Amino acid sequence: MRLNSRVERPQIAEPLVALCYAFRMTARILDGIKIRDEIFAELKQEVAQLAAQGVRPGLAAVLVGENPASQLYVKSKVAACEQLGMASWLHTPRADVSTDYLLQLVDDLNRDDNVDGILVQLPLPARVDSKRILEAVSPTKDVDGFHPVNMGMLVSNRPGLVACTPAGCMEILRRNHIAIEGANAVVLGRSDIVGKPMALLLLHANATVTICHSKSRDLPEIIRRADILVAAIGRAGFVHPDWIKASASVIDVGTNKVTDRAQAEQLLLNFPQRLEKFLAKGSVLIGDVHPDAVNTAAALTPVPGGVGPMTITMLMNNTVKAAKLRRLSGKSQPAAAAR
Ligand code: NAP
Repeated sequence: MRLNSRVERPQIAEPLVALCYAFRMTARILDGIKIRDEIFAELKQEVAQLAAQGVRPGLAAVLVGENPASQLYVKSKVAACEQLGMASWLHTPRADVSTDYLLQLVDDLNRDDNVDGILVQLPLPARVDSKRILEAVSPTKDVDGFHPVNMGMLVSNRPGLVACTPAGCMEILRRNHIAIEGANAVVLGRSDIVGKPMALLLLHANATVTICHSKSRDLPEIIRRADILVAAIGRAGFVHPDWIKASASVIDVGTNKVTDRAQAEQLLLNFPQRLEKFLAKGSVLIGDVHPDAVNTAAALTPVPGGVGPMTITMLMNNTVKAAKLRRLSGKSQPAAAAR
């Protein structure tokens, strides 16, 4: 369920508490689905302009084995390519594939001029050397932005392909006109795919950035100073609503499937409709920020429907960008939004 702009009414017996709750401010909802639709419309136009120049951006996806979640992700990425008029190819080696076979496949895709982006769906089977495979992808086709060369480009603030989830978080901030320059930004989590690139993007946008991790002390105090909070730690409802200052914008990257009834009841105490759905389905997706933060933050991304849709959007964006950088460098390029 998407969070509505107004929070669901709580079932609180104490009338005074209920009255206070009713008059609380609710956060502005930073709707990722709306931004995805805007960017898709822009990309569709860009793809059409590129087609007029004889370039059809194309994404090759490599899906190893039969992991149902991975199959679903790849299917939606291929469908997004079709929706935008881009080419796509799906390679589905068996789960017992060797590292050498995959290295050869990546090499073939690197050499194929029609392929602008190569997506190796993770996780790969344990017997495959994932690091070698990812590093074999040409940095010019690394649309996930995971290659050390692209990480280096980001560190030095040079044009390259940026990891999709953090790039999507920046789009959410920018398109909602949230001031980044001079803001105190706190990034919870320091993974290579989310926390670190996120912190660098905020730094390059002139925020004052604090990066926190599992060994950080006094997290509530650090978070209380945040004008912008990006939470990417993988712990359902970890960030307490009282840690968030009233003027803060919160980007919740966490996507945690909660199946424990007691935990769901605690997290969704003030969201009876969501709790009902949990009881019917047996699971619910919860971010790293407690759902009650909708009553304390100034703005917040819902889970689901916030950061999630942006990741695939920025993958499409990176594929178009890769096509332009690789195939049109030196030629005049169609005007594009500065993404
Ligand atoms: P990850 O690789 O597991 O990294 C988690 C980070 O959080 C680590 O840096 C870890 O610190 C830190 N951390 C863990 N527990 C902590 C705690 N109690 N206090 C402070 N920091 C803590 O995770 P990830 O890949 O970055 O993903 C993070 C979350 O985002 C997950 O829920 C994931 O599902 C979600 N995600 C969503 C999308 C999307 O499209 N919406 C995309 C990617 C990820 P250490 O470094 O000290 O261990």
